[in-house]
Amino acid sequence: MQLRQYLEERNLPVAVFAARLKVNASSVYRYMSGRVPTTEILRRIQRATDDEVTPNDFFLSPANAGAACECGAPAVVFAPGEGEPSRAWCLVHWPCR
Ligand SMILES: [Zn+2]
Repeated sequence: MQLRQYLEERNLPVAVFAARLKVNASSVYRYMSGRVPTTEILRRIQRATDDEVTPNDFFLSPANAGAACECGAPAVVFAPGEGEPSRAWCLVHWPCR
């Protein structure tokens, strides 16, 4: 299930869920818009939602459906850290270029 849907169906405030993950609310809004959290945060989200929101829900989200690397290959867009730009992760080449 998408994170946004999970929170909306439960009327769970972003601030409350963010506190459970020990991240700030702005990070949760980025995850809700389809940005992929770090591996550690993906684990916390899966635990906090009783396995309802899994890593695949991020990698296969509509927000990532059209994402592309600079080389044109499909990519996953990760949530940036504070003050960092989003990073597109090439799914075909490692490393890309
Ligand atoms: Zn690439």
